[in-house]
Amino acid sequence: MTAQPITVFWFRRDLRLEDNVGLYQALQSGYPVLPLFIFDEAILEHLPKDDARVTFIYESLSKINEKLAEFGSSLLVKKGKTQDVWHQLITEFEVKEVFFNKDYEPYAINRDQQITELLAQNGVKVQAFKDQVIFEEAEITKADGLPYTVYTPYKNKWLEKYKMIAPVAEHDTTVFSKNWLASSFVFPSLSAIGFETSTIKVKPHNLTKIANYHETRDFPALDTTSYLSPHLRFGTVSVRKLVNWAARKNDVFLSELIWREFFMQILYHFPKVVQHNFKSAYDGIQWRNDQADFQRWCSGNTGYPMVDAGIRELNATGYMHNRVRMVVASFLCKHLLLPWQWGEAYFAQKLLDYDLSANVGNWQWAAGTGCDAAPYFRVFNPDIQLQKFDAKGHYIRKWIPEFDLGYGVPMVEHAMARDRAIATYKAGILK
Ligand code: FAD
Repeated sequence: MTAQPITVFWFRRDLRLEDNVGLYQALQSGYPVLPLFIFDEAILEHLPKDDARVTFIYESLSKINEKLAEFGSSLLVKKGKTQDVWHQLITEFEVKEVFFNKDYEPYAINRDQQITELLAQNGVKVQAFKDQVIFEEAEITKADGLPYTVYTPYKNKWLEKYKMIAPVAEHDTTVFSKNWLASSFVFPSLSAIGFETSTIKVKPHNLTKIANYHETRDFPALDTTSYLSPHLRFGTVSVRKLVNWAARKNDVFLSELIWREFFMQILYHFPKVVQHNFKSAYDGIQWRNDQADFQRWCSGNTGYPMVDAGIRELNATGYMHNRVRMVVASFLCKHLLLPWQWGEAYFAQKLLDYDLSANVGNWQWAAGTGCDAAPYFRVFNPDIQLQKFDAKGHYIRKWIPEFDLGYGVPMVEHAMARDRAIATYKAGILK
């Protein structure tokens, strides 16, 4: 055991040194801080060896480690079952306190409870902080204390509360640069963690182009959204910095960041939404469960250019524009009458920004089964969406180079599919 008493700061989905609430607190604990990241085997075992998110996490950790070297410190990177890693750490080091930022997903809540118990049994004090949202689940509620399940009143309350604290305080960790534990842990290679570098990369985020976000955000060829989603997912940007900035620049953009928090609190209060319809009245819908149709959708061969371009973009880059995600998801649920859970699981495998709350929330929105969802009788026409949002075909030509050679026949005719969807939903929705 290393006799020096220390504090451990456990990085999870907050992969940055600046404006990191838990880290800011840890650095003031009075003990030198050992920064830690654990590659959790329980999650890694479900991922392909070249998973692009693992590459992104690895590269983000590497940047943190480089910065820590300037303070004479280093990141301790472990791989294993989190329980086992913590058992080992408290044997190896004189850990007095552990700090981390809260994570609101069901798996993480359970994991953190177990680790907190383990540490408490060993006399280690644990402190968890709000970092990844402006307002947590219990902070924005209706007058009766119940959670909001409709977005607009949630957003109004959120804005009202935000105005009272704006700009939200940011946390300068650099002033405590002497409070790190002096160390030189070996930074492992990606292959030592059992992974390979992916060719799919997270794009740098892009805030310079969002001045006219409210007018341009729906046009996938324009490249005018922020590309912040993977950065928010893994915490390589601070949500406080972003919200303070967005509140000064563009209300529509700010309201998208509020959607993120809306779905996070829905997941927290209604964890059943991970697998089940938010609206249980929709449980009787008879999905077609057709595997062959699903494979055509997954490979971007439905014959509808907007749908196919979206899926091909996702398969090639790990990203898909939001308007196109809406069209692609609606097509799966309504035109093909396949369960939203299939599409959600496919996006979860592929998206660099995959985030349980946003993915489930948006899929259920598209399926009509979610809170504040699209009405079941609203069935996007993928060709009209194309005319509206990619009239010149720049986006679809980028992803379907063969488009001008005469594009394939739609796998399902729109008018028939629309009528079938409405009839099936009507028959399945419990009165
Ligand atoms: P911008 O338009 O620049 O928006 C800025 C930020 O606001 C985003 O980074 C994101 O954090 C947040 N945001 C924007 N739209 C939404 C929304 N509808 N719901 C929640 N947050 C939003 N987003 C994810 O982060 N992870 C997912 O797994 C995910 N799955 C989706 C699945 C479907 C079927 C649909 C329709 C949308 C999904 N979204 C998801 C929401 C949205 O499509 C992405 O956040 C957005 O396209 C990311 O690109 P951007 O960062 O350039 O977005």
